[in-house]
Amino acid sequence: MAHLGSNDQPLRVAIIGSGPAGFYSVSNLLKHADVCIEMDMYEKLPTPFGLVRAGVAPDHQKYKSVTRGYDKSANASSFRFFGNVEFGKHITLQDLRAYYHQVIFATGAQTDRPLDIPGETATGSHSATDFVAWYNGHPEFTDREFDLSVRSAAIIGLGNVAVDVARILCKEPEELQSTDITDYALDALRHSNVDTVYILGRRGPAQAAFTTPEIKEMGELHATDVHVQADEVELDAVSRAALAESGDKNAIKNVEVINEFAQWQASGKRKQLTIRFLVSPTEIVADADGRVSGVRLVRNAAYRAEDGSVRVKPTTAEEVLPVQLVFRSVGYLGVRLPDVPFDAAAAVIPNREGRVVDEQGDAHIGMYVAGWIKRGPSGVIGTNKTDAKETVACMIEDVRDGNCWQPAHSAVSDLIALLRSRQPDLVTYDDWRSLDQIEVQKGLQADRPRVKFTDVSEMLSVLER
Ligand code: NAP
Repeated sequence: MAHLGSNDQPLRVAIIGSGPAGFYSVSNLLKHADVCIEMDMYEKLPTPFGLVRAGVAPDHQKYKSVTRGYDKSANASSFRFFGNVEFGKHITLQDLRAYYHQVIFATGAQTDRPLDIPGETATGSHSATDFVAWYNGHPEFTDREFDLSVRSAAIIGLGNVAVDVARILCKEPEELQSTDITDYALDALRHSNVDTVYILGRRGPAQAAFTTPEIKEMGELHATDVHVQADEVELDAVSRAALAESGDKNAIKNVEVINEFAQWQASGKRKQLTIRFLVSPTEIVADADGRVSGVRLVRNAAYRAEDGSVRVKPTTAEEVLPVQLVFRSVGYLGVRLPDVPFDAAAAVIPNREGRVVDEQGDAHIGMYVAGWIKRGPSGVIGTNKTDAKETVACMIEDVRDGNCWQPAHSAVSDLIALLRSRQPDLVTYDDWRSLDQIEVQKGLQADRPRVKFTDVSEMLSVLER
């Protein structure tokens, strides 16, 4: 009898999600040339690449070149893409069990972490991740409205998303017009009056989550002076000791860059960006009409926690920073998938090295995770490579040990008929290639990397559906 993974009985794997974690899972599976594997990738949108398309900033095109590698994986004859197909709606866990031996959930972290402070829902208070998805043309966010007619904006959080949002607000529209930012966002930015931007961090410069190239770039903006407050950037004793002990290179360089900012004088540029440290928002203050008018901040003091990390506690010093726009940028959050175990506290699918586990820690045969839904929203795109490698190693080990689903159906051709009956507007990788070509062609005419489709019905109509 043919064994699983032989040419006569290929291992059939479903991958849910087409971002970096999904594609690095595919490339890692392809590396196991001794196992015959058929891979089907499912994606809710008609377009692949997840946050590389809808999250990476439009002025960071170089980070998007990873999609060339993803394209190469998609060229494999054993790979298929089913776009515009939503897990839980068009295909269920039960369906997957009936057709596949294994499934990898690589759905990322699809929402934002709340701040849980009064005023969070005031008009003008937005999740930074919504703003990012909006300017990047994610079809589910194109109808969001951001009032950029105001002068001052605060971004809460010291991560790379906060830095991205600040950069987009602080760059001149002319610097963005040669990117793949959406036309509606570029138009809104052209009319923007925002000229005073704050990034607000609850801890100090040595604990900032952003990476050094990103913060350094803030000092190179044509139209924006960068400010920090000397009393907030000077390292306190606990941060100094912790930094010396950890030797964390990113943190050391971040501190250097921020200290350089402290030496700078304003040079009269049109916009002013101030990066604040050791301040926590306690309230988003609204006016009588419910519109944001400020952020109440409490000044923090650092202390060393039992685990050795530097934490902060509030002091009695308070202030209200007058701003009319707030972007909450305190991290993404994983979302529960239908019928799939979920650890609500950690907002991840509970797993051990990528094997989905139950509350007792026992593996759910056939179910795996990769990327942010596995480990939480951390790291850069490349972090997902090693993450997927670990998951795929477990999958191959389980195939060898015979620990896989035993699908009732021996061919997936019936599944395609079923899928098409549930989603007639299914989008294949060839369809995506057609959309991609049109986007790139439109981009060429405008000296831009691409002009994105942002509307699903428009994409489908171009594909003559
Ligand atoms: P992040 O890196 O986790 O940063 C979240 C920030 O929010 C931290 O500074 C955190 O401070 C702060 N925060 C959390 N809760 C808070 C609260 N209640 N009040 C005030 N501040 C709070 O998240 P992210 O910026 O969303 O980025 C997500 C991931 O994507 C990261 O791994 C990031 O590096 C990556 N990314 C990379 C790029 C790039 O490479 N260019 C661009 C965008 C995103 P504490 O540290 O004190 O908790």
